[in-house]
Order: sequence, then structure tokens, then C-alpha cells
Amino acid sequence: MNRKSILSFIVTVLFVLPLFGQTPKYIFYLIGDGMGLNHVNLAEVYQSDIQSKVGVTPLIFSQFPYVTFATTFSQSNGVTDSAAGGSALAVGKKTKNGVLSMDSTGTVPYKSIAYAAKEKGLKVGITTSVSIDHATPAAFYANQSSRSKYYEIANDIPRSNFDFFAGSGFLSPTTTFDKKEAPAIEGILANAGYTIVKGKNEFDKQKDKSKKMILTNVNGTDVDALKFAIDQEPGDLTLEDITKSAIQALTTSNNNGFFLMVEGGKIDWSSHANDAATTIKEVLDFNKTVQLAYDFYKQHPNETLIVVTADHETGGLGIGNGSSTLRTKNLSNQKVSQALLSKKIGQLRTDNPNASWNDVKNLISENTGLWTKIKVNAPEEELIKQAYTKSFVNHQNETSKSLYASDDKIAALAIKTLNALSSIAWSSSNHSAAYVPVYAIGVGADTFNQMLDNTDIPKKIAEIANLNL
Ligand SMILES: [Zn+2]
Repeated sequence: MNRKSILSFIVTVLFVLPLFGQTPKYIFYLIGDGMGLNHVNLAEVYQSDIQSKVGVTPLIFSQFPYVTFATTFSQSNGVTDSAAGGSALAVGKKTKNGVLSMDSTGTVPYKSIAYAAKEKGLKVGITTSVSIDHATPAAFYANQSSRSKYYEIANDIPRSNFDFFAGSGFLSPTTTFDKKEAPAIEGILANAGYTIVKGKNEFDKQKDKSKKMILTNVNGTDVDALKFAIDQEPGDLTLEDITKSAIQALTTSNNNGFFLMVEGGKIDWSSHANDAATTIKEVLDFNKTVQLAYDFYKQHPNETLIVVTADHETGGLGIGNGSSTLRTKNLSNQKVSQALLSKKIGQLRTDNPNASWNDVKNLISENTGLWTKIKVNAPEEELIKQAYTKSFVNHQNETSKSLYASDDKIAALAIKTLNALSSIAWSSSNHSAAYVPVYAIGVGADTFNQMLDNTDIPKKIAEIANLNL
């Protein structure tokens, strides 16, 4: 061997060989519900636009070394729902829309990668910004013929024996799918050895963070989801709190590694409502979770795998609706989600049923910048005013329904106008068939280097981590 080949031999032995056959000890599987490539792009364009720069300011995961994209269709439909989409990402098999990690007849259960991780001795955490029994988290621990069987889904938690769960709460804690009263889920979980912890403060006070825990919102707050990031106030439980707590819980007194799934569940909700500003804040909020995982990766680079993806795209989001000049900066004037604006308008109607158009217009302005910061044309104003007349003058209450919200028509039209004036186009109030992005970094991440079917993602993670999926 000449000197050069001796040197390259030494480099191979020292740096490359140790990575061969290495399996990740820490696996982060981060899912932005409804987060299509344009959702990521919009957050990045917006971050540049608010600095008056043309281009993109990349999120953490956009800078991961391996990036590809995946299909999302289900076994039954070209456009998947979150149950079939979540199942594909959890078990590596397609199923019918509505079914959770079972075959399309809802009779044969499929094993999820979280169970495979648990079998291998890893601690397992399943977390979300929506309820713990919602489709995406449920796909990892439950096997149910319908995503709407919330009580039955939560009842699958004891069987999983997973170590840490977190989310807003449970949607049907005492009533079965066929509407029968049943023993409270919290009691069942407590009997199975889980400590139920309400809120971040209570979590921080736990002396033994290695015990099996379920972290939820404090009593008296929403059980169906955490607040939208744009609406959060100090003290509200955030996805970042949940992720930090999960990492803490899964690493305390544990040398066997972990598998942690975190879902940014409300990117989907704001996209169903076609509310771009709220969607941007949700994507940026999800990015904070990825930042925490990335910080962990930097401390354990040879033992960590992070995969970031989505179950489907929501809203058929388009950036650019005519002019070549993007005006996403206008969205920075929106102070609350469409859902909260809707509540504020409802409150005004209760307090002052005969409020004038100027009163309503001022409320919309304060929360969206329309008229005061952003010019609104007469025909656009007329549409919103017509909804006002119907509601406040003729007292016919109108709502704009999306999957997770029934928003006031006035609020929905105001947000629609703001979106149109901010270069945003939505082609649907439902999911679309668009490919979703996949980003990976860490041990084995280099296998995410080609076009994927959504079912390939958990299969690849299982292969890299030597899990029996
Ligand atoms: Zn979804």
C-alpha cells in the first residue's frame, strides 16, 4: 500500500466502518398532519417576505441531508384520510379510509412500528397537538375498524404498554362508540399503571419521570386540541412543551433508547379552514419540535435517526394567485386564527346584536389588518358586508363548515379575502392527493434517497433500526 491508500484505509476503519451495521438507538418520527410541500414552502417564503426579501428562509428540516417525497393514496381512495394515512405511516400497509391499523374489512389488526420498537426494548412515546385518541397518534397504538371509536381507541393504550403519551386529552372518555356509558378512561389508564399528568407544571413536578405517563391539557381547557400556535398565551400547553417532556420522560433512567412519534396535528385543521396565517404559525410551531429533535441529534449524532414527513396534504395550497409579486407578508397582520376571530364575532353578536357594520369592520381590522393595513376593494368588502347584514341586521346566523370547525361566515369571508390579497390560493377544503415531502437525518437516513410510497417509510425505519415490523 502506498501512503495515500494507507491513509484512506485508516479513514475507512476509523470513520466509515463504525457506521456500517449501526442501528439508531433514538428514533424521532415527526409527522406534520396535512403538511404538503407547499405548506413548508409557504412558511419559508413568508419568513423571507416579512424581511422584505425574495426567496426562502429554510426551516430546520429543509436543511436535512436526505429529502424525498412520498405518495399518500389509501387502499380505497386517491385522497386519503388521516386514519388510512396514519396507518400507512405506522404499520407500512395501506388500508381503507377511516380504518386504523387494520385491514380494509376492519378485522385483521396490523402491527405498528411503535409496537416493533417496544418489542426491541426501546421506550415508546406517542404525542400530538390534538387529542391522544385522534387518527394519527391512534394509528401507532390502536387497532380499530373506525377512527371515530374514540373510547375504544383510548382503551387500546393499556395493551400497548407504551411509556409516554401526550396530547390535549380524550374525546370520549366515558362513552363507547355505540353510545353506552362505560368506565372512565382515566381510571382504566390509572389501573394499567399510568400516571395522568395535567399540564406542563404538573409534569415538571413529577419526581420520577421514568414512570409510565400520560400528559394532557389542564382540566377545564380544550380536550379536542391544544390551542392554535397563533392563539396561544403564556401558560398554555404547547407542542414544544410536549416534545421536551417526552424526551425527558423517555431518557430518564433508560439506556435502551426510544422511539418517539410527534404529530403537529393542527396544520391540517387550519388548512381545512383555508386559513394561511394560522397554517404558517402551525408549521413554524412544528419546526420547533424538529429543532428539539435536531438538538438531541447533535448530542447523539451516531445513535439518532430523525424522519420528518406528513400523512397527506390539506387544502391544495398554492402560493401565487396571479401577480409575480408575492404578498404573503400581508398575513403578518392576522393576529388570531379564523376560529378565534369567529368566536370574537360571535361574542360581539351576543354583547351587541345590533352592532353596526363599522363595529364589525373594526373588529375584523384589528385582527386581520384588512382596510387599515391592506387595501380592500369595494366588491370584496361588499361580500363580507352582505354576510354582516344577514347576521347582524336580519339575524340569520350563517356558518362556514370545515372538517374541524364551524366558523362564522363573516370571519371565514374576511380570512378568505386576506388570503386572496396575500397571494394564497386554496383548491380544496379537504385533503388533496399531492405527494408529501420526507426529510431525514442521522443513522440510516441515506436510504431516504428515492421516491417512496407512504408505506415504505416505516418499513425503511424498521429496516434501519432492525425492528421486526
Ligand atoms: Zn391527516
